Amino acid sequence: MPTCLVTGGAGFLGSHLCDELLRRGHRVICVDNLETGSLKNIEHIRVPEFAFLQLDIVEPFFVEEQVDFVYHLASPASPIDYLRLPLHTLKVGSYGTHHALGLAKKHRARFLTASTSEVYGDPKVHPQSEDYWGHVNPIGPRGVYDEAKRYAEALTMAYHNQQGVDTSMIRIFNTYGPRMRPFDGRAIPTFMRQALQDQPITVFGDGSQTRSFCYVDDLIRGMIALAESGRHEPCNIGNPDEFTLLELANAVIDVTGSKSEIIFELLPTDDPQQRRPDISRAKEWLDWTPQVSLREGLQKTLDGAGRDGLIGRAR
Ligand code: NAD
Repeated sequence: MPTCLVTGGAGFLGSHLCDELLRRGHRVICVDNLETGSLKNIEHIRVPEFAFLQLDIVEPFFVEEQVDFVYHLASPASPIDYLRLPLHTLKVGSYGTHHALGLAKKHRARFLTASTSEVYGDPKVHPQSEDYWGHVNPIGPRGVYDEAKRYAEALTMAYHNQQGVDTSMIRIFNTYGPRMRPFDGRAIPTFMRQALQDQPITVFGDGSQTRSFCYVDDLIRGMIALAESGRHEPCNIGNPDEFTLLELANAVIDVTGSKSEIIFELLPTDDPQQRRPDISRAKEWLDWTPQVSLREGLQKTLDGAGRDGLIGRAR
């Protein structure tokens, strides 16, 4: 029974990863400082194969038990969080990643770092394949997140090349599902919260900017396949079906049966115009393609989180 250590395991994606690893018969050590995550995401897990350690990985950390996989997900992830926590975001991407890699090296464990489509910035190439180097403003407000992730990738590759650590890197595109936080500022939780209360749905700009949205179960399946693949180069995992924000808002209105109207607000600084993964590499390496369509995923999110889970309360 392999043991997996998941940093950021009490967050949205981390908690789904813990669930799936346990379901597959792994032992799981979940490490989290609860900065943006919550014990609520893992309180349903009551098996002896699961352990929770509350600690901040910006500080060095060790575990006694042999670890076979390190899944490194800890980082503020939504714009609201990383704009509130700019230095912490840079520290967890640098010191935190360094400590997680050190632990993987010590245990001779496989390592996966959770990178992001944000490494492509506001892309000049569409769709984005892994060999595109990106178009990021390092000193813009989003730079703290984008550059922390780019640095984390560089560090991960250096540990592989110089220290022989068996590393992998997933570039995650927008993912959604139950346990998203209603007030995390991202489009799907915001639109669902507004729609369920028949409040106006706030679309930035004219709503013509596009995104691709991946349902969480598809993402986690791709993440585990990549960690187990022995591939060291970055790999995009995301759903290539592209929607404008306006199309997304209308899909949310349909699925929730809402009476909301759509209103338009100022576009945030450096907001990318287009985002769509080229998933040729994931198909070739992992035989991975997403299975859940947007409407199906929105319905699953509604069913899984329930109305109360999606409305929530501001933090
Ligand atoms: P999240 O905020 O729900 O989860 C992040 C978790 O990391 C939280 O539980 C938080 O408490 C924990 N954490 C933060 N700093 C920490 C520290 N110093 N020590 C220990 N724990 C710490 O975010 P998420 O959406 O689940 O994202 C998980 C990972 O996936 C992040 O690395 C994020 O950058 C990446 N990612 C997510 C998406 C997405 O669409 N959700 C897209 C691209 C990349």
